[in-house]
Amino acid sequence: MVGGGQLGRMFCFAAQSMGYRVAVLDPDETSPAGAVADRHIRAAYDDRAALTELGRLCAAISTEFENVPSASLEFLASCTFVSPAASCVAIAQDRVAEKRFIAESGVPVAPHVVIESPQALAALPDEKIAAVLPGILKTARLGYDGKGQVSVRNVQEVRTAYASLSGVPCVLEKRMPLKYEVSVLIARGGDGKSAVFPLAQNVHVNGILAKTVVPAPDAQASLVAQAQDAALTIAAKLGYVGVLCVEFFVLEDGSLIANEMAPRPHNSGHYTVDACATSQFEQQVRAMTGMPLGDTRQHSPAAMLNLLGDIWFDGDKARSPAWAEVAAMPAARLHLYGKEDARRGRKMGHINFTAATLEQARTAARDCARMLHIPLD
Ligand code: ADP
Ligand code: MG
Repeated sequence: MVGGGQLGRMFCFAAQSMGYRVAVLDPDETSPAGAVADRHIRAAYDDRAALTELGRLCAAISTEFENVPSASLEFLASCTFVSPAASCVAIAQDRVAEKRFIAESGVPVAPHVVIESPQALAALPDEKIAAVLPGILKTARLGYDGKGQVSVRNVQEVRTAYASLSGVPCVLEKRMPLKYEVSVLIARGGDGKSAVFPLAQNVHVNGILAKTVVPAPDAQASLVAQAQDAALTIAAKLGYVGVLCVEFFVLEDGSLIANEMAPRPHNSGHYTVDACATSQFEQQVRAMTGMPLGDTRQHSPAAMLNLLGDIWFDGDKARSPAWAEVAAMPAARLHLYGKEDARRGRKMGHINFTAATLEQARTAARDCARMLHIPLD
């Protein structure tokens, strides 16, 4: 596994429970996945000696974070089986390439303007900029959890904001009237067969996922099918092998547009561990080992709450979240990532809520959010 974050940690659990041994490459001594892997190679993601060792040790390699250098995956592919392919990861790493690819797949994206450089922005007529305002200026690369994004209302703000992002390639995207947000998680095998999970409905707070509810309570069957078909089309066009998540916006008028994709298991798919026959992490194991994909059937309605480092603070004072109360809730399954220090905005864990009905799962999540001081809007 290239990357040692929480996604890699949960991948380790899935792989190990199926009898596999896992080696993790991550420079961080205290990485969540490194702590549970059979082997932790502590080195940079572009360290050739470490990559060679990983390639020699592993029958199959996958990745858990989007910003792994695609050159490293390409290099690993010369030693062993790598999924998803470097070419797929490279597209998902770059908002410009990603938007182009999604649109070419016939799936609509938000109106946007690409700004490659300060010179390109200087040459861009005000009318072209104004056509996508009010908007959000997003760096083409390395953004996540709302980082590398600035909200902009007028042309002057665009020019100031672009300078504040150091003149790197950006996408200026029109701010869309969102009714709600959804995501489609799929797995695709080397044989081209796909397995799609139910539609997840997501609530973001300050650009970070806060809550997921599945099946998406606000989506009609036709919208579910539309989103799932779009994700399957994108995966097929990519020739994708592995787990892929596509995020969508449902607009006020009911139309669906794609936001972005992640070439790995996704935060909005964490519910699958407690609510589906096969988890997203087991699907990743199955796809990379060439096993048939598992059943994506959801056996329990589910809600998931993210636990950010913020809840370890009461103003300036440190506090310990009320874990005993969480553990006492029959609907709740607590997952913590073993990160040593809680920082604001840092993903520390999540709680899955499952119950006989979706309403019960949502109510439990709402009660728990209040108890743990998690803001949901
Ligand atoms: P990240 O890579 O950080 O997840 P996203 O592009 O998914 O970045 O943006 C994070 C969140 O910000 C989205 O889930 C959505 O809530 C909001 N957002 C992003 N782009 C738009 C947009 N064009 N219009 C309205 N809201 C947006
Ligand atoms: Mg996103």
